[in-house]
Amino acid sequence: MRSTADVVIIGGGVMGASIAYHLSEKGVTNVVLLERKTLAAEGTGHSGALVRQHYSQDPIIRMAVRSVKIFEEFEERTGRANVFSQTGWIKIGSAEMKAEMERNIERHRGFGIEADFLSIDDLQKLIPGINPDGIGSALIEHKSGHADPTATTEGLAEVARSRGTDIVEGVAATGIDTEGGRVTSVSTSEGAISTPIVVNAAGPWSPAIARWVDIDLPIEVTREQDLVLETDDVDLRPAYPVSNGVDRTYWRRDRGRLLAGDGHPKESEYVDPDNYDSTHDASYELELMARLKHRIPRFADSARVVGGFASLYDVTPDWHPILGAVDGVDGYLNCVGWSGHGFKLGPAVGELIAEVIVDGAASSIDISTLGLDRFAKGALLSGSYAGNQA
Ligand SMILES: Cc1cc2nc3c(=O)[nH]c(=O)nc-3n(C[C@H](O)[C@H](O)[C@H](O)COP(=O)(O)OP(=O)(O)OC[C@H]3O[C@@H](n4cnc5c(N)ncnc54)[C@H](O)[C@@H]3O)c2cc1C
Repeated sequence: MRSTADVVIIGGGVMGASIAYHLSEKGVTNVVLLERKTLAAEGTGHSGALVRQHYSQDPIIRMAVRSVKIFEEFEERTGRANVFSQTGWIKIGSAEMKAEMERNIERHRGFGIEADFLSIDDLQKLIPGINPDGIGSALIEHKSGHADPTATTEGLAEVARSRGTDIVEGVAATGIDTEGGRVTSVSTSEGAISTPIVVNAAGPWSPAIARWVDIDLPIEVTREQDLVLETDDVDLRPAYPVSNGVDRTYWRRDRGRLLAGDGHPKESEYVDPDNYDSTHDASYELELMARLKHRIPRFADSARVVGGFASLYDVTPDWHPILGAVDGVDGYLNCVGWSGHGFKLGPAVGELIAEVIVDGAASSIDISTLGLDRFAKGALLSGSYAGNQA
C-alpha cells in the first residue's frame, strides 16, 4: 500500500469503487481505496439493487439516468460481463398516488426517461394473478431493471486497480489528521498515508469517520431485512422487479430465486452498525409473506422461504444523500447518507465526486442542494409521494 496518495477513499462499497473508477478515467490513479472487509461486504452486497429512475429531486433523477447509461456501457467500460438486467421496472401505488404518478411520468420524459402508466388490465397481464384491491395507479419504466451489486462494485474497482489505483481490502482507516484546517493524512491499521484529500464513503460508519474531523453527520442507521424465496411458478418470477407502494413490498428475480423485502414508505428500526442482528426475524418472515400472499395469492401455494438476512441503511433526516465538501475542513469530502437508494446511483455519483476532486466542482450535474449545509439552513429536500419515498 502507498504511503503517499493524491486521494484516499474510505469504504469499498459501490460508492468507493465508483469514485476510484471515475478518478482513473480522469487519469488520477495515485489513489488508495481502503476497505476494512472485502469489496461490497456491507449494504452494497446485500442490496435489492433495483435500478429505477422514478425520483423526485432533479439531481437524483439526473444521477439515476446517468447511472443507467453507465450500466448499459458496463461491459465496454470494464471488459467484464454485463451486470445489468434491463428488464423494465414496475411501480404500483394507491389511487391517492395516481395524479402525482402521472405528473412524474410526464416530467420525467423531459429527462429522457421512458415510462407508461398502466391500467389494472395491463398490470394483470404483466403480473398474472395480482389482486387489484387497493391498487389505484401503476407504471412501467422501460429502461430500468436490476443489477448485480457485487459484480458492479468489483468490476469498477478492478478497472481502477488495473490502471494503478491501490484497492486495499482488509485494512481499516483509523483516523484523519489535519493541520490548519486542511487534511494531511489518513491513519490505517497498516500505517499512515499522507494525502491532501479524503473521501468518506463508509455508509453506516460514515458518522464515526466524520467525527475524526469534528463533523457531525445527521445520519442514523437502520436495519433492513430481505427474504430469499424459491418457486417453480414462472408467473411468480416476472422478469421485471416490482415495487409495491400499496403493501410496502418489493420483489425481483435473483439468479433463479426471488428476493423480497419491505418497500417504501417503510418503518425504521434504528441500530448500532457495530452491533446488530444480521439474520432475519421469524416474525418479519411471517408478516412479509402475508403481505405478498395478499397481493398474489399464489405465493401461498408455490413459494417457500429458503433464506434471509439483514443489512443496513445510512439514513438522513430527509432521505436524501450528503455530497461534497464541508466548510472548515479543506480536502474532506462526503459521499454518504444514501438512505436506501444508493446502489443504482453509485455509477454516476463516482463521476461527480471525481469532478469535484479534479475540476473543483461537479460539472455534469448540479449537486449544490445535496450539501451538509442544507440541514443548518433548514433546506431539507422532499419526495413527491408521502412518507419516506424519495
Ligand atoms: C437490504 C437492502 C436493500 C437495498 N435495496 C436497494 C435497491 O433496491 N436499490 C438501490 O439503489 N439501493 C438499495 N439499497 C441501498 C444501497 O445498497 C446502498 O445505498 C449502497 O449500496 C451504499 O453504498 P456505499 O458504498 O455508500 O456503502 P456500503 O456498501 O455500506 O459500503 C461502505 C463500506 O465502508 C467500509 N468501511 C466502514 N468503515 C471503514 C473504515 N474505517 N475503513 C475502511 N472501510 C470502512 C464498510 O466495510 C463498507 O464495505 C439497499 C440496501 C439494503 C441494505
